[in-house]
Amino acid sequence: NSKMNRSNNFEFYNSDLKKKALEEFILENELRHAIKREEFSLNYQPLVDVSSEKIVGVEALIRWNHKEHGFVSPAKFIPLAERKGMIGFIGEWVLEKACRQMKKWIDSGYPVRFIAVNISVKQLESLEFLDNVKRIIRETGINPRHLEFEITESISMTNLKNRTEILRELDDMGIALSIDDFGTGYSSLGKLKKFAVRKLKIDRSFISDINIDPNNTAIVSTIIAIAKILNMKVVAEGVETLEQVEFLREKECDLIQGYYYSRPVTFDEFEKMIPQEI
Ligand code: C2E
Ligand code: MG
Ligand code: MG
Ligand code: MG
Repeated sequence: NSKMNRSNNFEFYNSDLKKKALEEFILENELRHAIKREEFSLNYQPLVDVSSEKIVGVEALIRWNHKEHGFVSPAKFIPLAERKGMIGFIGEWVLEKACRQMKKWIDSGYPVRFIAVNISVKQLESLEFLDNVKRIIRETGINPRHLEFEITESISMTNLKNRTEILRELDDMGIALSIDDFGTGYSSLGKLKKFAVRKLKIDRSFISDINIDPNNTAIVSTIIAIAKILNMKVVAEGVETLEQVEFLREKECDLIQGYYYSRPVTFDEFEKMIPQEI
């Protein structure tokens, strides 16, 4: 009978939601203890210059290894941290760790030019953000010219006058701004200029279909062309095959990042990939 079905459905739906809410609640609580339990670490993925095939930069990516649950994906806990107001302290931990590591690499003569750190819009919106960045730069001794902030397109392109000011100030300090997952959000080319953006990272979804989906092939070519007109560098993320590398080289994409060269690795694995120049 249909009435009964409906109530069963409701029960099912309801318990599903409860399960999800419970899971989130547990995750949120565990997240609060993650720093002091030393469960966070950073992985590093090289960015390779297309023409010289040399590693020129590195992206820092957070990893959370929970004592019981094992690795939890940042795609899962970063949005949760953003919703629950925890991204500030996680972001600070990431930035400080990344700056310390980069300073060590520069001081020991590794020829890496920049470290890219993902910054959530929630961090940008916080009043303490700029002060925290300045403090971390001072305390770690990193040259801000070796630092790059990656901001996801959808968020970075929306409104806010004071956001423009923050991004300008970062630029004045020498920190480069890069638009992550470019092509998936809304952007106005005028705003890219106003925000002092120096780099566009083409979203992985467009790269994976190069030479399969003619639309994506055209989108990738167009983004590269736009970047050149705007005098910005362009990065392809999620590059996995030689075929993709060759296409991107032909289109004169500047940098490549992806499993084709390397997955994100620990700092000591990363050091083995880059030759020291002392
Ligand atoms: P993202 O910044 O776009 O980072 C690229 C993601 O693509 C990383 O996933 C990386 O491991 C993955 N990737 C790189 N090359 C390939 C490839 O060739 N094929 C495939 N299939 N994947 C590739 P990850 O580390 O799981 O991070 C996911 C997202 O979580 C990041 O996307 C970023 O938005 C966020 N995230 C990671 N670390 C941080 C952080 O420290 N702070 C903030 N706010 N967000 C972070
Ligand atoms: Mg990124
Ligand atoms: Mg990205
Ligand atoms: Mg992405």
